Amino acid sequence: MDTEPYAWLEQSLATIHRADWYRSVQTLHGLPGATVVLEGREVINFASNDYLGLAGDERLIQAATAAVQEFGTGSTGSRLLSGHRQLHRDLERAIASLKQTEDAVVFSSGYLANLGTITALVGKRDLILSDQYNHSSLKNGAILSGARVIDYPHCDVEAVRDELQRVRQNYRRCLIITDSVFSMDGDLCPLPELLDLAEEFCCMFLVDEAHSTAVLGENGAGCVEHLGCTGRELIQMGTLSKALGSLGGYVAGSSTLIDFLRNRAPSWIYTTALSPGDTAAALAAIAIVQQEPQRRTQLWENVDYLKELMQQLPQLKLLPSLSPIVCFQLTSAAEALRVGKQLKSAGIFAPAIRPPTVPTSRIRVSVMATHQKVHIEKLVAACNK
Ligand SMILES: *Cc1c(COP(=O)(O)O)cnc(C)c1O
Repeated sequence: MDTEPYAWLEQSLATIHRADWYRSVQTLHGLPGATVVLEGREVINFASNDYLGLAGDERLIQAATAAVQEFGTGSTGSRLLSGHRQLHRDLERAIASLKQTEDAVVFSSGYLANLGTITALVGKRDLILSDQYNHSSLKNGAILSGARVIDYPHCDVEAVRDELQRVRQNYRRCLIITDSVFSMDGDLCPLPELLDLAEEFCCMFLVDEAHSTAVLGENGAGCVEHLGCTGRELIQMGTLSKALGSLGGYVAGSSTLIDFLRNRAPSWIYTTALSPGDTAAALAAIAIVQQEPQRRTQLWENVDYLKELMQQLPQLKLLPSLSPIVCFQLTSAAEALRVGKQLKSAGIFAPAIRPPTVPTSRIRVSVMATHQKVHIEKLVAACNK
Protein backbone atom coordinates (compact mmCIF):
# COMPACT_ATOMS: atom_id res chain seq x y z
CA MET A 1 0.00 0.00 0.00
CA ASP A 2 1.08 3.59 -0.69
CA THR A 3 2.39 5.23 2.47
CA GLU A 4 2.07 8.83 1.27
CA PRO A 5 -1.59 9.78 1.04
CA TYR A 6 -0.84 13.32 -0.18
CA ALA A 7 1.87 12.56 -2.74
CA TRP A 8 -0.64 12.67 -5.60
CA LEU A 9 -1.16 16.40 -5.02
CA GLU A 10 2.27 17.32 -6.37
CA GLN A 11 1.89 14.98 -9.31
CA SER A 12 -1.47 16.47 -10.09
CA LEU A 13 -0.06 20.02 -9.93
CA ALA A 14 2.75 18.98 -12.28
CA THR A 15 0.16 17.76 -14.79
CA ILE A 16 -1.70 21.08 -14.49
CA HIS A 17 1.55 22.95 -15.19
CA ARG A 18 2.38 20.80 -18.22
CA ALA A 19 -1.01 21.62 -19.79
CA ASP A 20 -0.54 25.38 -19.20
CA TRP A 21 -3.63 25.20 -17.01
CA TYR A 22 -1.89 26.39 -13.84
CA ARG A 23 -3.54 29.42 -12.21
CA SER A 24 -2.43 31.86 -9.54
CA VAL A 25 -3.59 35.16 -8.08
CA GLN A 26 -2.46 38.66 -9.05
CA THR A 27 -2.51 41.48 -6.51
CA LEU A 28 -4.44 44.69 -7.21
CA HIS A 29 -3.88 47.77 -5.07
CA GLY A 30 -6.15 50.67 -4.19
CA LEU A 31 -9.71 51.33 -5.30
CA PRO A 32 -11.22 49.35 -8.18
CA GLY A 33 -11.93 51.33 -11.35
CA ALA A 34 -11.31 51.72 -15.09
CA THR A 35 -7.61 51.77 -14.31
CA VAL A 36 -6.04 49.86 -11.43
CA VAL A 37 -2.62 49.32 -9.96
CA LEU A 38 -1.60 45.75 -10.74
CA GLU A 39 1.64 44.52 -9.20
CA GLY A 40 2.87 48.06 -8.73
CA ARG A 41 1.99 49.37 -12.18
CA GLU A 42 -1.05 51.27 -13.47
CA VAL A 43 -2.96 49.32 -16.14
CA ILE A 44 -6.28 49.78 -17.94
CA ASN A 45 -8.72 47.38 -16.37
CA PHE A 46 -10.63 45.11 -18.76
CA ALA A 47 -10.85 42.27 -16.25
CA SER A 48 -13.56 43.55 -13.93
CA ASN A 49 -17.23 42.61 -13.48
CA ASP A 50 -17.86 46.07 -12.00
CA TYR A 51 -19.67 47.13 -15.19
CA LEU A 52 -21.04 50.43 -13.87
CA GLY A 53 -17.97 51.37 -11.85
CA LEU A 54 -19.88 51.23 -8.56
CA ALA A 55 -17.48 49.14 -6.45
CA GLY A 56 -15.32 52.19 -5.81
CA ASP A 57 -18.20 54.70 -5.74
CA GLU A 58 -18.12 57.11 -2.80
CA ARG A 59 -21.84 56.58 -2.06
CA LEU A 60 -21.48 52.82 -1.71
CA ILE A 61 -18.42 53.29 0.48
CA GLN A 62 -20.35 55.75 2.69
CA ALA A 63 -23.36 53.43 2.95
CA ALA A 64 -21.20 50.44 3.88
CA THR A 65 -19.19 52.45 6.40
CA ALA A 66 -22.31 53.84 8.08
CA ALA A 67 -23.83 50.34 8.30
CA VAL A 68 -20.66 48.93 9.86
CA GLN A 69 -20.67 51.79 12.40
CA GLU A 70 -24.29 51.16 13.30
CA PHE A 71 -24.56 47.35 13.09
CA GLY A 72 -20.97 46.07 13.36
CA THR A 73 -18.90 44.02 10.96
CA GLY A 74 -20.64 40.65 11.17
CA SER A 75 -24.29 39.68 11.15
CA THR A 76 -23.54 37.07 13.90
CA GLY A 77 -25.88 34.32 12.77
CA SER A 78 -28.08 32.85 10.11
CA ARG A 79 -31.10 34.83 8.95
CA LEU A 80 -33.53 32.57 10.85
CA LEU A 81 -31.57 32.88 14.10
CA SER A 82 -29.74 36.10 15.07
CA GLY A 83 -28.56 37.28 11.63
CA HIS A 84 -31.58 39.15 10.26
CA ARG A 85 -31.67 42.97 10.17
CA GLN A 86 -34.14 45.42 8.65
CA LEU A 87 -31.39 46.21 6.08
CA HIS A 88 -31.71 42.70 4.62
CA ARG A 89 -35.43 43.11 4.15
CA ASP A 90 -34.96 46.58 2.64
CA LEU A 91 -32.50 45.12 0.15
CA GLU A 92 -34.87 42.28 -0.76
CA ARG A 93 -37.72 44.75 -1.34
CA ALA A 94 -35.41 46.88 -3.52
CA ILE A 95 -34.40 43.84 -5.61
CA ALA A 96 -38.04 42.82 -6.07
CA SER A 97 -38.81 46.38 -7.19
CA LEU A 98 -35.90 46.43 -9.67
CA LYS A 99 -36.84 43.00 -11.05
CA GLN A 100 -40.61 43.66 -11.00
CA THR A 101 -41.31 40.49 -9.03
CA GLU A 102 -43.45 39.89 -5.95
CA ASP A 103 -40.49 39.19 -3.69
CA ALA A 104 -36.79 38.34 -3.46
CA VAL A 105 -34.37 36.70 -1.05
CA VAL A 106 -30.66 37.46 -0.67
CA PHE A 107 -27.97 34.81 -0.21
CA SER A 108 -24.36 35.28 0.91
CA SER A 109 -23.16 34.79 -2.67
CA GLY A 110 -24.53 34.11 -6.12
CA TYR A 111 -22.90 30.70 -6.02
CA LEU A 112 -24.83 29.82 -2.86
CA ALA A 113 -28.05 31.19 -4.38
CA ASN A 114 -27.79 28.70 -7.24
CA LEU A 115 -26.77 25.75 -5.05
CA GLY A 116 -29.57 26.40 -2.56
CA THR A 117 -32.31 27.11 -5.06
CA ILE A 118 -31.67 24.13 -7.33
CA THR A 119 -31.37 21.67 -4.44
CA ALA A 120 -34.58 23.03 -2.89
CA LEU A 121 -36.59 22.70 -6.11
CA VAL A 122 -35.63 19.29 -7.48
CA GLY A 123 -34.46 15.89 -6.23
CA LYS A 124 -33.97 12.27 -7.25
CA ARG A 125 -37.27 11.87 -9.09
CA ASP A 126 -36.75 15.00 -11.19
CA LEU A 127 -35.06 16.18 -14.36
CA ILE A 128 -32.75 19.14 -15.05
CA LEU A 129 -31.99 20.45 -18.54
CA SER A 130 -28.82 22.54 -18.43
CA ASP A 131 -26.97 24.50 -21.14
CA GLN A 132 -23.51 22.99 -21.68
CA TYR A 133 -21.85 26.40 -21.10
CA ASN A 134 -23.65 27.18 -17.84
CA HIS A 135 -21.75 28.65 -14.91
CA SER A 136 -20.11 26.27 -12.43
CA SER A 137 -22.66 27.17 -9.71
CA LEU A 138 -25.57 26.00 -11.88
CA LYS A 139 -23.75 22.82 -12.86
CA ASN A 140 -22.75 21.96 -9.32
CA GLY A 141 -26.21 22.84 -7.99
CA ALA A 142 -27.64 20.39 -10.51
CA ILE A 143 -25.26 17.62 -9.43
CA LEU A 144 -25.89 18.30 -5.74
CA SER A 145 -29.66 18.09 -6.19
CA GLY A 146 -29.47 14.42 -7.16
CA ALA A 147 -31.79 14.99 -10.14
CA ARG A 148 -31.08 13.45 -13.55
CA VAL A 149 -29.09 16.12 -15.43
CA ILE A 150 -29.04 16.45 -19.21
CA ASP A 151 -26.62 19.00 -20.67
CA TYR A 152 -28.00 20.34 -23.93
CA PRO A 153 -25.88 21.87 -26.74
CA HIS A 154 -25.27 25.59 -26.21
CA CYS A 155 -28.46 27.66 -26.76
CA ASP A 156 -30.02 24.87 -28.85
CA VAL A 157 -33.80 25.27 -28.46
CA GLU A 158 -34.59 22.34 -30.76
CA ALA A 159 -32.37 20.04 -28.72
CA VAL A 160 -34.23 21.07 -25.57
CA ARG A 161 -37.55 20.32 -27.28
CA ASP A 162 -36.31 16.90 -28.42
CA GLU A 163 -35.13 15.98 -24.93
CA LEU A 164 -38.41 17.10 -23.38
CA GLN A 165 -40.41 15.07 -25.88
CA ARG A 166 -38.19 12.06 -25.27
CA VAL A 167 -37.94 11.96 -21.48
CA ARG A 168 -40.12 14.59 -19.76
CA GLN A 169 -42.89 12.09 -18.93
CA ASN A 170 -40.47 9.87 -16.98
CA TYR A 171 -39.90 12.50 -14.31
CA ARG A 172 -41.97 14.24 -11.65
CA ARG A 173 -40.69 17.82 -11.88
CA CYS A 174 -38.45 19.38 -14.49
CA LEU A 175 -36.20 22.44 -14.17
CA ILE A 176 -34.51 24.20 -17.09
CA ILE A 177 -31.42 26.20 -16.03
CA THR A 178 -29.40 28.70 -18.06
CA ASP A 179 -27.15 31.73 -17.81
CA SER A 180 -28.82 34.74 -19.45
CA VAL A 181 -25.52 36.35 -20.47
CA PHE A 182 -22.97 33.53 -20.79
CA SER A 183 -20.14 34.58 -18.54
CA MET A 184 -17.19 33.33 -20.61
CA ASP A 185 -18.62 34.06 -24.09
CA GLY A 186 -20.84 37.12 -23.78
CA ASP A 187 -23.75 35.83 -25.85
CA LEU A 188 -27.38 35.64 -24.65
CA CYS A 189 -29.64 32.64 -24.10
CA PRO A 190 -32.77 32.33 -26.30
CA LEU A 191 -34.96 33.23 -23.32
CA PRO A 192 -38.45 33.68 -24.87
CA GLU A 193 -38.17 30.43 -26.84
CA LEU A 194 -36.93 28.47 -23.81
CA LEU A 195 -39.72 29.92 -21.67
CA ASP A 196 -42.29 28.84 -24.26
CA LEU A 197 -40.93 25.30 -24.04
CA ALA A 198 -41.00 25.40 -20.25
CA GLU A 199 -44.69 26.33 -20.38
CA GLU A 200 -45.50 23.72 -23.01
CA PHE A 201 -43.84 20.89 -21.07
CA CYS A 202 -44.73 22.02 -17.52
CA CYS A 203 -41.15 22.84 -16.47
CA MET A 204 -39.79 25.30 -13.95
CA PHE A 205 -37.25 27.75 -15.38
CA LEU A 206 -34.26 29.29 -13.61
CA VAL A 207 -32.30 32.05 -15.35
CA ASP A 208 -28.96 33.27 -13.99
CA GLU A 209 -28.75 37.06 -14.45
CA ALA A 210 -25.28 37.46 -12.88
CA HIS A 211 -23.87 39.47 -15.80
CA SER A 212 -27.09 41.20 -16.85
CA THR A 213 -28.47 42.65 -13.61
CA ALA A 214 -28.13 46.46 -13.82
CA VAL A 215 -26.56 46.04 -17.28
CA LEU A 216 -29.35 44.92 -19.64
CA GLY A 217 -32.94 46.14 -19.93
CA GLU A 218 -34.52 49.58 -20.07
CA ASN A 219 -34.52 49.81 -16.26
CA GLY A 220 -31.52 47.59 -15.62
CA ALA A 221 -33.68 44.64 -14.58
CA GLY A 222 -31.62 42.28 -16.75
CA CYS A 223 -32.03 40.03 -19.75
CA VAL A 224 -35.58 39.12 -18.73
CA GLU A 225 -36.56 42.75 -19.23
CA HIS A 226 -34.31 43.19 -22.29
CA LEU A 227 -35.96 40.25 -24.09
CA GLY A 228 -39.51 41.26 -23.17
CA CYS A 229 -40.18 38.53 -20.60
CA THR A 230 -41.02 40.71 -17.57
CA GLY A 231 -44.01 39.29 -15.70
CA ARG A 232 -43.67 35.76 -17.09
CA GLU A 233 -43.51 33.05 -14.45
CA LEU A 234 -39.89 32.13 -13.84
CA ILE A 235 -37.15 32.07 -11.24
CA GLN A 236 -34.58 34.85 -11.60
CA MET A 237 -31.26 34.54 -9.87
CA GLY A 238 -28.46 37.10 -9.87
CA THR A 239 -25.53 38.45 -7.95
CA LEU A 240 -24.83 41.61 -5.95
CA SER A 241 -21.12 41.26 -6.68
CA LYS A 242 -20.87 42.32 -10.32
CA ALA A 243 -22.59 45.49 -11.61
CA LEU A 244 -23.91 46.14 -8.08
CA GLY A 245 -20.38 46.40 -6.72
CA SER A 246 -20.94 44.52 -3.46
CA LEU A 247 -21.11 40.85 -2.39
CA GLY A 248 -24.01 38.42 -2.22
CA GLY A 249 -26.60 36.78 -4.44
CA TYR A 250 -30.37 36.92 -4.88
CA VAL A 251 -33.35 35.03 -6.14
CA ALA A 252 -36.42 36.98 -7.30
CA GLY A 253 -39.82 35.54 -8.16
CA SER A 254 -43.29 34.89 -6.78
CA SER A 255 -43.86 35.33 -3.05
CA THR A 256 -44.71 31.62 -2.79
CA LEU A 257 -41.36 30.67 -4.35
CA ILE A 258 -39.44 32.99 -2.04
CA ASP A 259 -41.31 31.79 1.03
CA PHE A 260 -40.54 28.20 0.02
CA LEU A 261 -36.82 28.96 -0.43
CA ARG A 262 -36.64 30.54 3.04
CA ASN A 263 -37.86 27.19 4.36
CA ARG A 264 -36.02 24.77 2.13
CA ALA A 265 -32.80 26.24 0.66
CA PRO A 266 -29.97 24.81 2.79
CA SER A 267 -27.40 27.39 1.64
CA TRP A 268 -29.71 30.15 2.93
CA ILE A 269 -30.86 28.48 6.16
CA TYR A 270 -27.52 27.13 7.36
CA THR A 271 -25.15 29.96 6.59
CA THR A 272 -24.44 33.33 8.17
CA ALA A 273 -26.49 36.26 6.88
CA LEU A 274 -24.90 38.79 4.54
CA SER A 275 -22.78 41.31 6.48
CA PRO A 276 -24.28 44.74 7.25
CA GLY A 277 -21.65 46.52 5.12
CA ASP A 278 -22.24 44.39 2.02
CA THR A 279 -26.00 44.66 2.44
CA ALA A 280 -25.95 48.45 2.71
CA ALA A 281 -23.58 48.80 -0.27
CA ALA A 282 -25.87 46.69 -2.49
CA LEU A 283 -28.91 48.70 -1.38
CA ALA A 284 -27.14 51.97 -2.27
CA ALA A 285 -26.13 50.47 -5.65
CA ILE A 286 -29.72 49.61 -6.58
CA ALA A 287 -30.81 53.18 -5.82
CA ILE A 288 -28.07 54.47 -8.15
CA VAL A 289 -29.03 51.98 -10.89
CA GLN A 290 -32.61 53.26 -10.71
CA GLN A 291 -31.71 56.96 -10.51
CA GLU A 292 -28.83 57.10 -13.01
CA PRO A 293 -29.75 55.29 -16.25
CA GLN A 294 -27.02 57.36 -17.94
CA ARG A 295 -24.45 54.94 -16.47
CA ARG A 296 -26.01 52.12 -18.49
CA THR A 297 -26.18 54.33 -21.58
CA GLN A 298 -22.48 55.13 -21.21
CA LEU A 299 -21.64 51.44 -20.77
CA TRP A 300 -23.42 50.50 -24.01
CA GLU A 301 -21.79 53.38 -25.90
CA ASN A 302 -18.42 52.01 -24.78
CA VAL A 303 -19.38 48.46 -25.77
CA ASP A 304 -20.46 49.63 -29.24
CA TYR A 305 -17.27 51.66 -29.69
CA LEU A 306 -15.07 48.70 -28.74
CA LYS A 307 -16.92 46.28 -31.03
CA GLU A 308 -16.78 48.76 -33.91
CA LEU A 309 -12.99 49.12 -33.57
CA MET A 310 -12.39 45.40 -32.98
CA GLN A 311 -14.30 44.46 -36.12
CA GLN A 312 -11.73 46.40 -38.11
CA LEU A 313 -9.07 43.90 -37.05
CA PRO A 314 -9.75 40.85 -39.25
CA GLN A 315 -7.00 38.81 -37.56
CA LEU A 316 -9.06 38.71 -34.32
CA LYS A 317 -11.45 35.77 -34.04
CA LEU A 318 -14.23 37.47 -32.07
CA LEU A 319 -16.86 35.29 -30.39
CA PRO A 320 -20.43 36.48 -30.98
CA SER A 321 -21.41 38.81 -28.12
CA LEU A 322 -24.47 40.87 -27.19
CA SER A 323 -23.07 42.06 -23.87
CA PRO A 324 -20.12 43.98 -22.38
CA ILE A 325 -18.15 40.71 -22.43
CA VAL A 326 -16.06 40.47 -25.61
CA CYS A 327 -13.77 37.50 -26.28
CA PHE A 328 -11.31 36.67 -28.99
CA GLN A 329 -10.28 33.12 -29.54
CA LEU A 330 -6.72 31.78 -29.55
CA THR A 331 -5.36 28.46 -30.68
CA SER A 332 -4.00 27.13 -27.38
CA ALA A 333 -3.74 27.78 -23.65
CA ALA A 334 -0.05 28.63 -24.10
CA GLU A 335 -0.86 31.22 -26.76
CA ALA A 336 -3.61 32.76 -24.62
CA LEU A 337 -1.14 33.09 -21.74
CA ARG A 338 1.44 34.68 -24.03
CA VAL A 339 -1.03 37.21 -25.44
CA GLY A 340 -2.31 37.98 -21.93
CA LYS A 341 1.27 38.74 -20.85
CA GLN A 342 1.93 40.89 -23.92
CA LEU A 343 -1.23 42.90 -23.22
CA LYS A 344 -0.14 43.34 -19.62
CA SER A 345 3.23 44.70 -20.65
CA ALA A 346 1.35 47.11 -22.96
CA GLY A 347 -0.55 48.34 -19.88
CA ILE A 348 -3.76 46.38 -20.54
CA PHE A 349 -5.26 44.04 -17.95
CA ALA A 350 -7.34 41.43 -19.85
CA PRO A 351 -7.22 37.86 -18.63
CA ALA A 352 -6.52 34.67 -20.57
CA ILE A 353 -9.35 32.20 -19.96
CA ARG A 354 -8.32 28.60 -20.51
CA PRO A 355 -9.67 25.07 -20.11
CA PRO A 356 -11.14 23.64 -17.97
CA THR A 357 -13.12 26.87 -17.46
CA VAL A 358 -13.90 27.02 -21.19
CA PRO A 359 -13.49 24.49 -24.03
CA THR A 360 -11.23 26.78 -26.11
CA SER A 361 -8.70 29.35 -24.87
CA ARG A 362 -9.41 33.04 -25.27
CA ILE A 363 -8.74 36.56 -24.05
CA ARG A 364 -11.80 37.92 -22.26
CA VAL A 365 -12.41 41.66 -22.17
CA SER A 366 -15.13 43.28 -20.09
CA VAL A 367 -16.16 46.86 -20.72
CA MET A 368 -17.09 49.33 -17.97
CA ALA A 369 -19.20 52.50 -18.06
CA THR A 370 -16.23 54.38 -16.62
CA HIS A 371 -13.79 53.48 -19.42
CA GLN A 372 -12.79 56.47 -21.51
CA LYS A 373 -12.51 56.33 -25.30
CA VAL A 374 -8.74 56.47 -25.05
CA HIS A 375 -8.74 53.34 -22.83
CA ILE A 376 -10.65 51.44 -25.50
CA GLU A 377 -8.41 52.78 -28.28
CA LYS A 378 -5.31 51.63 -26.38
CA LEU A 379 -6.77 48.16 -25.98
CA VAL A 380 -7.49 47.90 -29.70
CA ALA A 381 -4.03 49.21 -30.61
CA ALA A 382 -2.44 46.59 -28.33
CA CYS A 383 -4.60 43.86 -29.89
CA ASN A 384 -3.49 44.97 -33.33
CA LYS A 385 0.06 44.00 -32.42
C1 LIG B 1 -20.25 35.23 -10.95
C2 LIG B 1 -21.32 34.28 -11.30
C3 LIG B 1 -22.03 33.58 -10.32
C4 LIG B 1 -21.63 33.58 -8.88
O1 LIG B 1 -21.88 34.78 -8.26
P1 LIG B 1 -21.04 35.19 -6.96
O2 LIG B 1 -21.91 36.19 -6.30
O3 LIG B 1 -19.75 35.72 -7.44
O4 LIG B 1 -20.89 33.94 -6.14
C5 LIG B 1 -23.09 32.80 -10.73
N1 LIG B 1 -23.44 32.70 -12.03
C6 LIG B 1 -22.77 33.34 -12.99
C7 LIG B 1 -23.21 33.20 -14.42
C8 LIG B 1 -21.69 34.14 -12.67
O5 LIG B 1 -21.00 34.75 -13.63
